[in-house]
Amino acid sequence: MAEKITAYRFDCLEQTLSQLNKEDCAIIAGGTDVMVLHKSRRGVPPKILKSVVFIDHLSELKQVNQNQKDLHIGACCTYSELLEHALIPVALKNAIKSIAAPAIRNRGTLGGNICNASPAGDTLPLLYVYNAKLRLRSVNGERIVAINDFIQGPRRVQRDPNEIVTEIILPSVLEEDAHVVFEKVGNRNADAIAKVGFAGYIRINDARIEDVRFAFGAVGPTMVRSLNIEKKLVGKTLPLADSDIAEIVADFDKIIRPIDDQRSTAVYRKIVALNLLRYFLSLKQYQTK
Ligand SMILES: Cc1cc2nc3c(=O)[nH]c(=O)nc-3n(C[C@H](O)[C@H](O)[C@H](O)COP(=O)(O)OP(=O)(O)OC[C@H]3O[C@@H](n4cnc5c(N)ncnc54)[C@H](O)[C@@H]3O)c2cc1C
Repeated sequence: MAEKITAYRFDCLEQTLSQLNKEDCAIIAGGTDVMVLHKSRRGVPPKILKSVVFIDHLSELKQVNQNQKDLHIGACCTYSELLEHALIPVALKNAIKSIAAPAIRNRGTLGGNICNASPAGDTLPLLYVYNAKLRLRSVNGERIVAINDFIQGPRRVQRDPNEIVTEIILPSVLEEDAHVVFEKVGNRNADAIAKVGFAGYIRINDARIEDVRFAFGAVGPTMVRSLNIEKKLVGKTLPLADSDIAEIVADFDKIIRPIDDQRSTAVYRKIVALNLLRYFLSLKQYQTK
């Protein structure tokens, strides 16, 4: 027989934070990761050892706002809601369309994808290249933390038990002039966990690279990004010389260290990740802008 647990569903964020300050609870947003993580056998309800607190309905966590060029996305916006929203960048919508099937997209949230901190989380490569920041709130106040500092390893994040991630901030994302792509390689175009994920971001002025960023998913314990490698390309003129592309690919070859698992092999992942990088660096689409 299923064991009873205490579940809270408060009307507002303040009450929720107050409860989290009194009791260490399992936070449930859409529940699409939590329920899988705690499942036991078919027909048996998931076993969660703490009280649970639901946050998916809290209106404070479901807003999408523009603040000058920055985009603020409520942590509990579902994927389906974000797909419908005019302010969400096309690259992020493309990543969302590759996630699961519509039923999961109706429940799953952006905040949940971040806090679950899976190396294969599909929104993460993009959030890294957008230099995303997270706003966390507790009864003690709020703090803002960069996504790469927040995610510390598979399912490990820098969150105190009394904190909730309230929003994701994408700085300057509403500037028009960056070219951003997301690529996912899986068994199918959607409804499959990534074997490799890739996001590339490039801003060009008069054929010179002003800013460039890359992040790889599912090829290490967290997203692979290197500011030092990116810096090597800033100021270079497009199209890039073959030797420049080869150097960047060789640099990433050294730091991408995938593993074998049930979804793919380390060898395949490495080859695909480097091919995606090569493809991005030689993309004609943005070189003619
Ligand atoms: C069938 C299926 C297919 C899937 N396919 C994909 C896929 O293709 N790509 C992919 O990336 N993922 C996939 N997922 C995983 C999942 O749907 C996503 O990671 C989703 O974004 C999780 O969001 P959620 O709101 O359901 O998180 P939840 O399950 O509610 O929470 C996940 C974790 O984050 C914590 N948490 C959630 N929100 C907050 C918050 N605001 N503040 C603090 N902590 C919080 C929870 O306590 C928990 O530890 C799939 C899952 C299923 C079941």
